[in-house]
Amino acid sequence: MNCSVLQQLLEETAPYAATVVAVSKTKPSTAIEALYAEGQRDFGENYVQELSEKAALLPGDIRWHFIGHLQRNKVKYIAPFVQLIHAVDSLSLLEEINKQALKHNRVIDVLLQMHVAREETKFGMELTELLQVADTVRAQVDLFSGIRICGVMGMASFVEDEGQIRKEMQEIRSGFDELKARFPEWKEHCTICSMGMSSDYKIALEEGSTLIRIGSMLFGKRV
Ligand SMILES: *Cc1c(COP(=O)(O)O)cnc(C)c1O
Repeated sequence: MNCSVLQQLLEETAPYAATVVAVSKTKPSTAIEALYAEGQRDFGENYVQELSEKAALLPGDIRWHFIGHLQRNKVKYIAPFVQLIHAVDSLSLLEEINKQALKHNRVIDVLLQMHVAREETKFGMELTELLQVADTVRAQVDLFSGIRICGVMGMASFVEDEGQIRKEMQEIRSGFDELKARFPEWKEHCTICSMGMSSDYKIALEEGSTLIRIGSMLFGKRV
């Protein structure tokens, strides 16, 4: 763990005014505490149980981002404290998040996950479906008072071809722009385009990311 890496990364992202989420999945709490001591407050996890255990142990002012694929039956465990759920890929998941948020008297911020990578394994919605889900929320604002749609999240393919990565990120960014244009009434909070990881965050920043999710670069390789 090298703390100066964080400072370097923050300097690099400052011109873009992008948020850095430190992806701490599989890493021990001590590693999180070290970055916390450096001032880092946004951390990302993608397993519900691991996140719950860490959140219970670590300082209460950490903003926990759930960045992985979320199962409906697990929403209840993170609903009391999660800051932002990045990878919402269905209306039914959104309904469950809304239900659990209302139960805890909260409004939970979410991003809609957009599918762009050519790999079959990646989750997310095509833009048409994503916009339909947003339409449904708008059509029933009173029902969905427990959630706020804050933007879009996406992942580019894991490939060497920088051109392909760039093209996919442009697709994510234009999906985000379309969402904003179609829902001007959400402009106060619909401000997040979450894309970019250790391997491709530079391209992501150039293509209009407002939030990058950085794991291995900050914490070292996961085994
Ligand atoms: C693990 C993970 C990251 C971070 O990946 P690194 O390559 O370690 O930076 C970002 N986003 C998601 C959704 C992840 O699961």
